[in-house]
Amino acid sequence: MSLLEIRDLKTYYRADGGWVRATDGVSLSIDRGETVGLVGESGSGKTTLAKSIIRLFPDNAEIHGGSIDYDGTEITDLSDKELRRRIRWQEISMIPQNAMNGFDPVYTVGQQIVQVIRHHEEGVSKADARDRARDLFDELGIEPDRIDDYPHQFSGGMAQRAMIALALALGPSLVLADEPTTALDVVIQDRILETIKEKQAEIDSAMIMITHDMSVVSETCDRIAVVYGGRIVEIADARTIITNPRHPYTLGLRNAFPDISDDDQELISIPGTPPDLVDPGEGCRFAPRCPFAEEDCWEITPEPQEYEPGHFVECHRADEIDYLQSAAGEKSTWQDATTGDRDAVVDGGIVDTSGADATETEGGSADE
Ligand code: ATP
Ligand code: MG
Repeated sequence: MSLLEIRDLKTYYRADGGWVRATDGVSLSIDRGETVGLVGESGSGKTTLAKSIIRLFPDNAEIHGGSIDYDGTEITDLSDKELRRRIRWQEISMIPQNAMNGFDPVYTVGQQIVQVIRHHEEGVSKADARDRARDLFDELGIEPDRIDDYPHQFSGGMAQRAMIALALALGPSLVLADEPTTALDVVIQDRILETIKEKQAEIDSAMIMITHDMSVVSETCDRIAVVYGGRIVEIADARTIITNPRHPYTLGLRNAFPDISDDDQELISIPGTPPDLVDPGEGCRFAPRCPFAEEDCWEITPEPQEYEPGHFVECHRADEIDYLQSAAGEKSTWQDATTGDRDAVVDGGIVDTSGADATETEGGSADE
């Protein structure tokens, strides 16, 4: 049985214009010890999904449907108090995207770590908890004496590392790491990632790793989920997502990230903007930006289809993998996309797919 089983989860924010459907029908399961990456553009709903799991979200957020089974307990049914007592920190912890906000400014960082340890583990003395906090600081490259500093005395990078220390302090079974190294400079990013992975192996925890950085997920994750417009549009093992994706959005994301092994690579960005999550409408949410969108894509919401075992894709055209992969590698495919213009896509076709199959179009540009 999976450690965590999320089914059709919907988390919405109340806003002036209506509900922002930030997580809109997400299913995801995670095994013990497994690391799953969440990638996708800013605003796609990665943080919302992670925060939904331990309900660490603002007052205007609400779970509108779905279930989250954690190790046999339906945690959407737990009260906030029960969640705090039984789950948060000791079972599931989070390294938040903005670590500085994770600490209370009126207590020293050490006091907060000691408090979390003692609150959740019976019989630990203050001195022992302090020693553990100091050891964790040391492992994460922070001078142990600095546990007596207040959060504002830390740099952003130090606060991030201190938050990592706090998130790992109780040996949780699942760590939600939201851009854990983004605030750090490149030199220590690798070291911190390494430390997180080492600690994770030591305490044998599973992890959800959120990042914009494809190279981080490819190095650290067993599986990768690609998030777009509040949904997981593609999920598979990390290798498949990196080398053999089927969703046009994943193909587009891949184009936008530098591949250090390829000197001649031209970075291609995805034109257009993410969907309006208040009124996403019918059809595929990526259709307005997708150079491969056809009439169905605008009208029928694609259901996830399993292509290889564990490889799920929400795209009407995902079976045309060879064609999509070859055309998506051409800059012109994306440049010529008439973003947001349904008629242009459905009538003339941005990409002429009449009778197209993989062999006819392979290597050719798709812009005629
Ligand atoms: P990033 O990569 O920038 O961190 P993300 O993928 O983590 O983005 P979320 O922070 O989950 O995205 O936001 C998803 C959507 O929910 C966005 O449209 C965002 O504007 C909206 N949103 C987030 N927080 C709130 C809030 N408190 N109230 C209303 N809308 C919100
Ligand atoms: Mg985020």
